[in-house]
Amino acid sequence: MARYTGPVCRLCRHHGMKLFLKGARCFGPKCAIERRRSVPGVHGQSRRKVTEYGVQLAEKQKIRSIYGVLEAQFRKHFAEALRRPGSTGANLLSILESRLDNVVYRLGFADSRNQARQIVRHGHFVLNGRKTNVPSALLREGDVVEVRGTSKGLEYFEILKASIGTKSVPRWLAIEPEGLRGRISTLPAREEIDTVVNEQLVVEFYSR
Ligand code: SF4
Repeated sequence: MARYTGPVCRLCRHHGMKLFLKGARCFGPKCAIERRRSVPGVHGQSRRKVTEYGVQLAEKQKIRSIYGVLEAQFRKHFAEALRRPGSTGANLLSILESRLDNVVYRLGFADSRNQARQIVRHGHFVLNGRKTNVPSALLREGDVVEVRGTSKGLEYFEILKASIGTKSVPRWLAIEPEGLRGRISTLPAREEIDTVVNEQLVVEFYSR
């Protein structure tokens, strides 16, 4: 399945909540959810009763939209979550959080996961000293993500350097603003992930 390339605000309206896909705009009055609290389409929200399957499917799609992950990749992450000990749902979220594009976003190097994915693909980062351009790479405890030496002089990163120290970073990450460098202190537990989703519905969806 191809990646969704349409207007991302439409995804938020579809799910009836803010998914924070557009960076700073999501926190301002221009946010489409703030301006139009309606489902896309002239007929608005259907009155049809949603089945249990529909609820589970919608939650899975919502999580995929938030993290910008394709179905095939999402299934791989779910399989890995099943393999790990502990709660599968919590494992799934922890895995999604440990993706390189998400870590770049959480460290404040990008305003949104979409933007993070783009700058990773453009080869602006090194992972443990080695150049990488794979947004789906899963990071582990102790891994270090840094803006590539040759990229640090770019205007984007010069501007970022001045502001990145003021951004808040989750407790499971550590940032060195001066070096444009971040480290995974530990993989996040469920209570450290602020994504408002019901991951258990995804577990039920794939267990059908
Ligand atoms: Fe969603 Fe952000 Fe668009 Fe608001 S501005 S609808 S939160 S993507």
